[in-house]
Parts: sequence; C-alpha cells; structure tokens
Amino acid sequence: MSADGSTPPLVDQLFAELSEKVKAARPQEDLEPLERAYRYALNHHAHQVRDSGEPYMTHPLQVALILAGMNMDIVCLQTGLLHDVIEDTGTTHEELRREFGEDVAHCVEGVTKLGKVKFYSPEERQAESVRKMLLAMVSDIRVILVKLADRLHNMRTISALSVERQQRIARETLEIYSPIAHRLGMGKIRGELEDLAFHTLEPEVYEDIRAQIDARIQDSDAALQQMKQTLMLKLARENIPAKLEGRIKRVYSVVQKLRRQKIGIDQVYDLLALRIITDSVKNCYAALGVIHNEWHPIPGRIKDFIAIPRTNLYQSLHTSVIGPGGVNFEIQIRTEEMHRIAEEGISAHWKYKEGRRGAGVDEKGVAWLRQLVEWQREMRDPGEFMATLKVDLYPEEVYCFTPRGRVIILPREATPIDFAYSIHTDVGHQCVGAKVNGRIVPLRTPLRNGDVVEIVTQSGHMPSKDWLSLVKTSRARNKIKHVINASERERAIDIGQKALEREARRLGIALSRIGRGEMDQVASDYGCAKLEDLHASLGYGKVSARQILSRFAPTGELLPPAPPEPVAPPPGTPIPGRPGPDNSDLVIRVTGADDLLVYRAKCCNPIRGEAIVGYITRGKGVGVHSLSCPNVQNLMYEVDRRIDVEWARAATDNFMVKMVVYTEDRPGVLNQLTSVLTHENSNIRSLEARADERRGPDNAIVDMTVEVRDKKQLERVVAGMRRIPGVRDVERVQ
Ligand code: MN
Repeated sequence: MSADGSTPPLVDQLFAELSEKVKAARPQEDLEPLERAYRYALNHHAHQVRDSGEPYMTHPLQVALILAGMNMDIVCLQTGLLHDVIEDTGTTHEELRREFGEDVAHCVEGVTKLGKVKFYSPEERQAESVRKMLLAMVSDIRVILVKLADRLHNMRTISALSVERQQRIARETLEIYSPIAHRLGMGKIRGELEDLAFHTLEPEVYEDIRAQIDARIQDSDAALQQMKQTLMLKLARENIPAKLEGRIKRVYSVVQKLRRQKIGIDQVYDLLALRIITDSVKNCYAALGVIHNEWHPIPGRIKDFIAIPRTNLYQSLHTSVIGPGGVNFEIQIRTEEMHRIAEEGISAHWKYKEGRRGAGVDEKGVAWLRQLVEWQREMRDPGEFMATLKVDLYPEEVYCFTPRGRVIILPREATPIDFAYSIHTDVGHQCVGAKVNGRIVPLRTPLRNGDVVEIVTQSGHMPSKDWLSLVKTSRARNKIKHVINASERERAIDIGQKALEREARRLGIALSRIGRGEMDQVASDYGCAKLEDLHASLGYGKVSARQILSRFAPTGELLPPAPPEPVAPPPGTPIPGRPGPDNSDLVIRVTGADDLLVYRAKCCNPIRGEAIVGYITRGKGVGVHSLSCPNVQNLMYEVDRRIDVEWARAATDNFMVKMVVYTEDRPGVLNQLTSVLTHENSNIRSLEARADERRGPDNAIVDMTVEVRDKKQLERVVAGMRRIPGVRDVERVQ
C-alpha cells in the first residue's frame, strides 16, 4: 500500500492479471482463497519496496503469475503470494495455518527454509551435494516449484541489485537452481534461468553469441521455411498429423557446446531445429522415415530418446539432415505428451486437478515418481536424478555445513560426533562440544539439513564408551572402538604384568633374576610376539600367571595349589560364554587346522559361496564372518587373530537366511513370492506380511526366513522376486 493507504495501481493490475489467468484456465475455480492470500500478503508487505523501487508486492504477484502459467493449483499459487511473509514480516507458521490451512503454511515454511540455506559459494565438487540437500529438505514438491518461480523472477529483475550480489545470485542460479530444474525435467524454466544467469556473468560473450546466432538464423531462414513447407506436404500425404515449429538453440546451451567440444558456431548442427509434434509414438517413427526419404541424414546424429529416455524423462527422436542449400538442420520429433514433459517436467504431473481436495496426493504424479523408482532399479547406472528424488521422497541423509561452507553428508539422526569424525579422526577424538547454527548443543543432538556445525576440541581429549551409542556412522564407530580397544589393551597389559609379579612373589620366584631373553622365549612359547603381548594375554585372562611361572619353579618342588584368583578382566571384555558347539558348523573348516571349534557369526550369518574370514575369539573358538560383514572391519584390526577359513566341500547343509521384501500390497503377490521359492526347491521357515507404514496404504513388507544351499541360489531367489510386478525391493537381513 502506498502512503495514502491505497493499493498502487501496478499491484492491483497484476492481481487482476493473475485472476484472469486462473479464471481462463479453470472457470469453475473459487477465487476467494487466492484473493484472501493476496490481501494478506499485501497487508504484510505494505510499505516495503524492492531494490528496483517497485512496491514489494509486485514480486510475490509475479511469482504467482509464473506459477499460474504452469497451471499450478491454488495452494501453490497462495504459497507463491505468501512465500516471503515469514521471512520478511515475521508472520508465524501457526498464523498461516489458521488463515490458510496446513498445506499453505507447510509450503510457505518450506520455501522460507530453502531461502535460509547459505551456499558459501559452493565449489563445483560440492554443488551436487547442495542440490541434493535442497531437494532433501523439500517434502512437498510444490515447495521447489515455488522456489524456482521465485528465483526466476529474481533473475528477471536482477539488474536492480549491486554488481556483487548479481554475480553471487547468478552463479548460484547456474550451479544450484538451473540443474534442479533440469533434473525435474523443466526445460523451459531451466533455459530461461541459464540464459539470464549467463547474461549476468559474461555479458560480452552472451551478446557476441547472440549476434552470431541471429546471423545464422537470417542466413538459413529461407531454407527453414522451404523445409517446413515440403515437410508439411509430405507428412499430410502420409496422413501423419503434425504441428511444426522452429526451435533456436539457447545462448547458454550453444556456449556450453562450443566450450565442451572446442568447435566453432558453424559446427553446431542443432543451432536451428525443426520440431514436429504429432499424435502417437508410431507416427513419430513414421515421420522420421518421411524425413530421411526426403533429405540425407548426417550419420551418427540419429538419437532415439523414445526407446531410451533421458534420466529426466525427456523423450524425442532427433535426427540431423542436410537441408535445402546444404544447410544442416536438426529435427526433433515427439508426441504432445512428450512435448509437455520436456517443457514442464515434474510440474506437468503436478497440475491442478478439477475436484481435487486439499493436498490430496496427485495420483498421476505419484505414479510417475513410482515409475522413476522402477526405472532406477532396472538401470545399471541409476541416474543422479533418481537418487535425488529418492532423497526427496524418503530422506535418508542430512546435509550439514562446516563453518567454512564445506558440505558434510551424514545419515539421518547423525550427531555432532559423527560430524567431527567425518572431518578428521583427531577432531573426533578431541571433540568436547559442538555449536549448531552458533548455539552450543549437547553432543547427542541429531543434526538437521542445512545446519552449520562447529566442533569444539580440546587436545588430549579421548572418546568415551558412551559415544558408541550416540554415533550413526560406521566411521565414527570404528574410530571410537579402536581407541577404546587400544586403551583396554593397555590396561590389560598393566593388569597382566602386575598379576605376574604378584604370583611370582607368592611362589618365591625373583622375576628380576630371569633374563629378558628367557622371558621373550616364554612369550613366544605362548604364541606371543612380544613379552607385552604375553602380559596382555594374562590381563585378558587367556593364560594364567601360575602356568607361565611353573617352569621357573625350583625343579621337583611341588607348586602350592593355586588359589582361585582369577584375573579381573578389563572393563569391556565380553564375558566368555560357554563354548558354543551348538553353533559349530562342519561346513566350514579352518585352513590347515581341523581341530578348532568353528561357528558362523550371528551378525552376518554367512552362507556357502560367500567370501569368509575367521576370527579367533576369546574362548569361543573361531568365529566365521562374511568378508562384507561390518563387524569384520572392527574385529580384524587385531591382525594376529585373523585366520583363513574355507567352505568344506562335501557338506550339503542348508542355510537359513532372513529376507525382507518391499512390495505393493496386491492380491497374488504372496503367492508369486512363494512360487519363486518353490521353483528353487527352497523351504520357507517363516513368512509374515505387514503394512508398510512409511509408504502408506497399498504397500506391504514381507519378512521371511528361507533355506538356501548357497549364495548362488540365494541370488536366483532374490532376482526372481525382484521380477514380480509390484515388488519394489528385496533385501537380505543381516
Ligand atoms: Mn521471494
């Protein structure tokens, strides 16, 4: 509002335009909620002005207009109008929820959070992490659409800003936002963002290329028109319905090609393209035939993105031909649907639906996302795009920053201790406190997306055992365990040495008289490389001081009976259970030794055919782990406890394997799952299906225990289950 309390005409005019646009697209729409959001934003942004001097309200209105152009729903448009009220006017989530409902409040808050992320001018190698982080922070896809519209309008009006801010915002647009638009398949927005940003960053190059493109277009315009006419005629003769349009490659896209391929603009074959939009896939291929019949295709330039879509779902046929007058043209052929997806991407699937209520999930959009997940499974090298969407839908990671702006990726629920260890082992060991976003927090605090984490260290500090329950990364866990084990070993050595001295005194043996060489010999007799190791063995209670000293007792003299004086095990030593022959398994043998007790470790339950390794436990025999078992890494730092094991040949035992299947809950799935097992002659020990709460209705998790002969059979079972329609994933549970 201006000083006299009336709305500036420009602002009112923009809202009228917005209303018209929505009315034209959806005559039935009730515009009251939109108007209410407009009035609310207008009130709250009153007296604020943009850097351009225009009333602030022009910005949210333009953002809403961009969204209306994408035919977004009312919640999305309301969010567009209100997207800056939390940030700029101190409105709360609660207030928005009361006024406009949970959806709008949630979306506005989401946009606000994205705006708070500081990019610290990301380096190339971490731009990808920042993009993922943004998507991971978004739980409603409309948030990212509003954010992109917001950025687009800011880029359109960037000239009002200081040169410094222009540069920063343009770089951020190129590194973060236009790639996100690209991932989401939104070709139109991506193109405009790129050209605007490039124009800001390198205006001279931009103008130069622009001029060269214009010149080329003028030169080839006649040829283009001639080609269009010929094509119209030929396609009509073949009864192929078609809309023809010319497409000029965008400046930034040309520049990238020139720089990447180190070529001149004359060698850019797709500078000018003719686009044919037809009605069916069949006619796409038919049109391709017509074209190749008329003009010579340039070898190696035919691309079939219909059969093999790009990862962002782009589909088209591309070919380049030598047109009239020897001018090269690229021709792109696609259906209406493909065209819509190429231009609008994910928003094409998120459009307003007549009669849809609230944030009710758009079935088509979800089906589309689901299809992506399907494709991801089938693709050998799943595109980054898919991974991103997965993070978006099922956040599994958090993205945090160091105070200098490096992105650290951690699993969900990770704590500042994980963060410290992922920076450096010493930072982890010496971590005594943490500041998150400038405030001191307890070390158990779970980190959230976008947190800036500063670790407080103190030299000489060592991790405590409690930390093991606070960390989520295996890196931190391993490092902590290593320190704890090392300090336990030190204590064991100390305890062992003292036990030996005490026992020697009791027996009247002067340890000082026994030469070092002799003691080393004793150590080696007990399989220890050093005397220190023998002390450690004593401390761990693996050998007794009495045993060791017996050889130094005066000849023939009977040793007094040893009182029961067990060496106190150092804290943390597992109490050796009874040796468990129930676990022992003759299907495995220790290489070169048949008399050792062997059992398969419960943590990884290795099955025949898997690479395995043995580990000599304290008093329980040889534990056999799968080489891929996470515990192996922890256990094996004591290299001398490692022992080679192998699968014995003859045994025919079956192995029990626990599996979990994530599937759509539809009739017949269980039957198909079990028939895979029957087909493999594999027994089912137990099977239980339950609802998959995380994914909502129509999704189920099936837990089962099955018997398999070996790894190969298990692999066949898993592959067979994965082929069943509706089954999303099959995992072996360790
Ligand atoms: Mn804004």
